[in-house]
Amino acid sequence: MSRYAGDFADLEDPQMSLSFNAIVFELTSRCNAQCKMCYQAAGPKGSTYVGDVALKLEDTISVLEQARNIPGLPDRVHFGGGEGFLDQQMMYGVIAYARQLGFRDVTAVSNCFWGVSETRANQVAEKLAEAGLSQMEISWDVWHAPYVKAERVATAIRALHRAGVETNLRLLTTKSVRGHEAFDMLGRDIIEALDEIAIGNVLPTGKAAEEFPHDELYGGQNLDAGCMSNLNLTINPAGKVAPCCSGADQTEALCFGDVRTDRLVDIVERMNESALLSDLVRRGSRSFLELLREQGFDVPEDDAFLGPCHACWTVFSDPEKANAVKRVLEVVEKESVVEWATSYFNAEPA
Ligand code: SF4
Ligand code: SF4
Repeated sequence: MSRYAGDFADLEDPQMSLSFNAIVFELTSRCNAQCKMCYQAAGPKGSTYVGDVALKLEDTISVLEQARNIPGLPDRVHFGGGEGFLDQQMMYGVIAYARQLGFRDVTAVSNCFWGVSETRANQVAEKLAEAGLSQMEISWDVWHAPYVKAERVATAIRALHRAGVETNLRLLTTKSVRGHEAFDMLGRDIIEALDEIAIGNVLPTGKAAEEFPHDELYGGQNLDAGCMSNLNLTINPAGKVAPCCSGADQTEALCFGDVRTDRLVDIVERMNESALLSDLVRRGSRSFLELLREQGFDVPEDDAFLGPCHACWTVFSDPEKANAVKRVLEVVEKESVVEWATSYFNAEPA
C-alpha cells in the first residue's frame, strides 16, 4: 500500500455530502477594471486564468432550474463576474428569473462603474429592485479607485438605498491598507446609505499571490483547517463548476464538470464522490504539500503559506503539481478498493 494511504482520511469512504453557502455564477471574465488584488486577474480582455469568456443566458437559466431540483443545494444565489453589470440586461433577467424560481436570497456584486449620474444610477437601482435583488455587494476599495471613481460608487450606493435594495460595502485590507482610506474617499456620510460593511483580507490566491509581498498580507490560518464552511457551488465564466469562489474556480484541477455539457446533478455527485475534494475541504491542504515534496517538487516549508487557500492555490493552479497529486490519489484509491474487496470476499459468512 502507498505510504500516503494513511494520510488521506476519506479514500475508503469518499462519499460525503458537501454543504454550500450559495450558488455563485461568475457571468463574465471581463471587467472594466484591472485591480491589483483581483484573484481572477479580470480585465477588459478577460481573465488570465479562464480567458475571455462569459456564461450564456440559456446555460445560466438551465443551471438555475436544475438547482431547484437537487436536494440539499442552498436557497441563495449570487451573481458576479468579472463585472457582471457590463451586461445589465442579462443581470436584470437572471435576477428576476431566480426570484421567479423561488430562490430566497438573490444577491449580486458590482464595482458600481454605472453610477455615472444620479439619473442613470436611479434607473439601474430601480430595475434591480423591480427584479427582486435582495442585496447588492459593492466591491470597492483603494485598488479599485484608479478604475472606478469614488463619486460614481457613492452615487450608486445612494441610488440603491433610495430604491430599497440592501447595500453591503465590501472592503479588502492588507497590513498597510486598513479600509478607512477607501471609506474617506467615499465620504463618511455614505454610512447612512449602507446596510452592511464587510471587511475582508486580500487572499494570496490568483493575481494577488503574485502582486503582493506575502508579509504584507494577513495570514496565519492553520493549514490543517478545512474549508467546508466556506464553500459555494461556483459556475465560472467558462461554465466550469468548482467548490468555491476563493481560487479553486480559477483552476482546471478543482473543476468537476462543465454546465454546457454535463447535468448539474452529475457534477455535484462527482464532487461528493471525490476523495481529493473530501480531504481538501475536511482536513486542509497540508497533506498535499507533503505529498508533492515526496514526489520531488520544490515546495516551500509550511510556514511560508498564509493559509489553506494559499496552499490550495499553489498546488492546484499548477497543472503539473495538480496532476502529480491526482496520480498518487488514484493509486491509493485503487489499492484501498482492492484491500476492501479482498477482506470483504475473504470474510466468513456470518
Ligand atoms: S472590479 Fe472586481 S472583478 Fe474587476 S478587476 Fe477589480 S476585483 Fe477584479
Ligand atoms: S482551500 Fe481551496 S477549495 Fe477550500 S476554500 Fe480555499 S481555495 Fe477553495
